[in-house]
Amino acid sequence: MQALKHHMRPGMLVLLILLIGASAAGCGRTQVPEPAQPPAPPAKEPAQPPKPPPEPAVKVSLARDSAAQGEFVVVRCSFDGGDPTSVTLAGLDAKAGMLPVNGKGFALLPVGVRIAPGSHKITVEASWPGGVKKSAEVTVAVTKTTFQVSRITATKEQTDNITSEKLAQDSVKVRAAKAASAVDNLWVSGFQAPLDARITTGFGHIRYVNGVETWRHSGIDFGAPTGTKVAACADGKVVMAMTLNGTGKTVILDHGLGVFSSYGHMSSLVVKAGDQVKKGQTVGLVGSTGFSTGPHLHWTVTIGLTAVDPFSLVKHSEDLGF
Ligand SMILES: [Zn+2]
Repeated sequence: MQALKHHMRPGMLVLLILLIGASAAGCGRTQVPEPAQPPAPPAKEPAQPPKPPPEPAVKVSLARDSAAQGEFVVVRCSFDGGDPTSVTLAGLDAKAGMLPVNGKGFALLPVGVRIAPGSHKITVEASWPGGVKKSAEVTVAVTKTTFQVSRITATKEQTDNITSEKLAQDSVKVRAAKAASAVDNLWVSGFQAPLDARITTGFGHIRYVNGVETWRHSGIDFGAPTGTKVAACADGKVVMAMTLNGTGKTVILDHGLGVFSSYGHMSSLVVKAGDQVKKGQTVGLVGSTGFSTGPHLHWTVTIGLTAVDPFSLVKHSEDLGF
């Protein structure tokens, strides 16, 4: 009976008990059960009018409200009305895209060394199917960084060898390598320095060559003996492994969302374009190839094409999901 109950509706149970009772009374006739009546359906809730779908909307916030010159900004967005088909960010003289998933997305914008200290607007524009567009703004406070001056002495042969034409050739190749970036952050295990060595020139230093101001130092120089292993600063994909005029034997890694790291002046390359690498994996060996006055590693990180302080990704790792 207990087992039957599970398969019987309450109305049927009552009917069955009545039938058993009739049979036990000994009237002798074979009882033909009447077809069970289906129980009345449970009372329905009053019908609700269908909810209209949420209107497309975008909300934007920052991981931190301020960033120093040479650092970066993490922009977080949430979307109503389904995932937009395209999202673009603009601000701080930079642009970025975003691929929202389940109504959320994030992107990085660089704060270049020449961005003026003060308040800067970042605008997010999102487009939904059917041509609906919405935008939102957020403000970031850029603080001043004091960049040091660094002076190097180069031989006439070295300076003659590094013409603006040769650097322009490098630039074309670097831009091509950085033209596309993975749509996901590949840096799931965080960022680290590529080697443990003395820093000889810091990020953003105003570089004088033979007493003449040249360019801002786009990365960090580590002085280390030739042959010292150089490790990937984060998980990523090799998008360049070749010899350039300026940075000699060079590896560039794509870490996704427009974040690239590069390793220059190496004596040999141990990865090739297309390889996937893990944080800490050797990508090459320290050397002095290209425009270099001695064995060292030149380590840069760019967001898009804008150089940022590589150590800022280590320092603000909590903004990047750690
Ligand atoms: Zn350097």
